[in-house]
Amino acid sequence: MAQGAILPEWVGIQILERLEEALDLPVYVDNDANLGALSEVTWGPHSGISNLMFLKIGSGIGAGLIINGAPYYGAVGITGEIGHATIHEYGAICRCGNRGCLETMASTTTMIELLGKGSGLHLEPEDIVRNALARDPATLRVVDDAGLAVGARWAMWRIS
Ligand SMILES: [Zn+2]
Repeated sequence: MAQGAILPEWVGIQILERLEEALDLPVYVDNDANLGALSEVTWGPHSGISNLMFLKIGSGIGAGLIINGAPYYGAVGITGEIGHATIHEYGAICRCGNRGCLETMASTTTMIELLGKGSGLHLEPEDIVRNALARDPATLRVVDDAGLAVGARWAMWRIS
């Protein structure tokens, strides 16, 4: 397994070339946050909007940016990669090897781990949504903490 890979079973697979060959069409490959942002302004409820940020919180966390109607990647192509930004200097060790990354505090993986502790239950992301809507106190605490961590990252972005 490749160290730190989000989809380790895909390492080494030339997905762009394989899809173009199989479909005989041009294929565009990007990450889910960037494509989520693009879909919002292309087909979603925000069509016609020139500037948008799409925040994706799943097993990973990322932001897709649309600036002047087009995806924005920044100078080195990682502008929206906020999941491994340090939020808590003494926080949990992340799969990337750093400590206190946003993903260690707000990803669905983290929420599932926190809610599953001691229960022996394996939760899925939809269980978090269902339990939050049912006002389960532990679920609401975990979701609230995740929101605070994301908000803290946003506040750091605005300051810097
Ligand atoms: Zn990390």
